[in-house]
Amino acid sequence: MDLFEYQGKQYFARYGIATSPGGVADTVDEAVRQAVKAGFPAVVKAQVQVGGRGKAGGIKLVNDEAEARAAAQSILGLDIKGHVVKRLWVEHASDIKKEYYASFTLDRDAKLHLCMLSAQGGVEIEEVAATDPDAIARLHVNPIDGLDRKDAVDLAKAAKIDDEAVEGVADMLLKLYEVYSKGDADLAEINPLILTPDGRIHALDAKVTLDDAASFRHPEWKEYEGTAELDGRERLAAEKHLNYIGLDGTVGIIANGAGLAMSTLDVVNQVGGSAANFLDLGGGAGADVMSAALEVINTDDRVAAVLVNIFGGITRCDEVAKGIVTALSTVEMRSPIVIRLDGTNADEGRKILSDASFSGVIIESTMIGAAKRAVEIASKGASN
Ligand code: GDP
Ligand code: MN
Repeated sequence: MDLFEYQGKQYFARYGIATSPGGVADTVDEAVRQAVKAGFPAVVKAQVQVGGRGKAGGIKLVNDEAEARAAAQSILGLDIKGHVVKRLWVEHASDIKKEYYASFTLDRDAKLHLCMLSAQGGVEIEEVAATDPDAIARLHVNPIDGLDRKDAVDLAKAAKIDDEAVEGVADMLLKLYEVYSKGDADLAEINPLILTPDGRIHALDAKVTLDDAASFRHPEWKEYEGTAELDGRERLAAEKHLNYIGLDGTVGIIANGAGLAMSTLDVVNQVGGSAANFLDLGGGAGADVMSAALEVINTDDRVAAVLVNIFGGITRCDEVAKGIVTALSTVEMRSPIVIRLDGTNADEGRKILSDASFSGVIIESTMIGAAKRAVEIASKGASN
């Protein structure tokens, strides 16, 4: 789950990273009030989950109430790379002497955490990586050992952080590592991390992606759920407690088990198709779960064929088939469904489905056969 900047800053505060005083506003009047409260000069910032807000006109420095009003008016409703601004964050403006960059992420290849630090902050890090890769200092952190202060200081020096800022930046890295590790984030980034003229190190922006798999440890994350930027399909899937990820292909996928769902995506690709989603039904694929899955896929107008791929283990195929029959009598599908059942009681399962004789339901016995069929239907659908 990606947090908005203001949520990221609130999350930072839990781990001792101070940010500028400010508040959120959904209206122009509220923005003006927040600016007065934060104190001028203030900065009015678009809350959208996309970088480069500054360049897109989504961030404005204001010196009085009239400027705050004008800035809020121009930013609310602004479209930044397809994200429409509905909320602002208004904070007391900081004086900037230098802009740095700091982040923690997971380096999957190295199987270690990765800290990146640069004295060239303020611009997007991809840009720095492309134009001046040596300007980014990197440090792998073993999760067992954690980050120690000496390594943080050495990294700051390697990144050519100004001498007067080295200690402060090292302190900030230690705190950011807490956000990342104790806070169960997949990404914790500060850009820009600034040095102020009076020598303080301060976070002006916050980008935090929380690791959804750790949500059971964090009851405090509940408050972020309502504001999370999900697409319509993902929101419905979340309501129905389905393990769903939206993609942009044309074959809707339903499988039982995450591994099988991944393989199904691969096989669809292999035969020249593209998946519209990942959807793992989990263990007992009863009628309720199946209906919910079909319903979610049915809302996706990119889908031109659905591929249901079930391997019966403890879950018996006849039970799954009954579930599908019940589900199909409640959900009217917009596109044909190819069903592959294999494993425990597969023959009984297929018989139940063929006896039900739904139109638009095709039964296949192999995974590759089913994938081919679904892709064939989807490509015809797309060319119509
Ligand atoms: P992003 O462009 O979406 O990453 O938004 P940021 O929050 O990083 O802000 C972009 C730029 O706006 C920063 O790099 C700063 O140069 C500027 N900025 C943001 N907040 C302040 C502030 O409090 N004071 C000043 N002087 N500039 C700011
Ligand atoms: Mn930024």
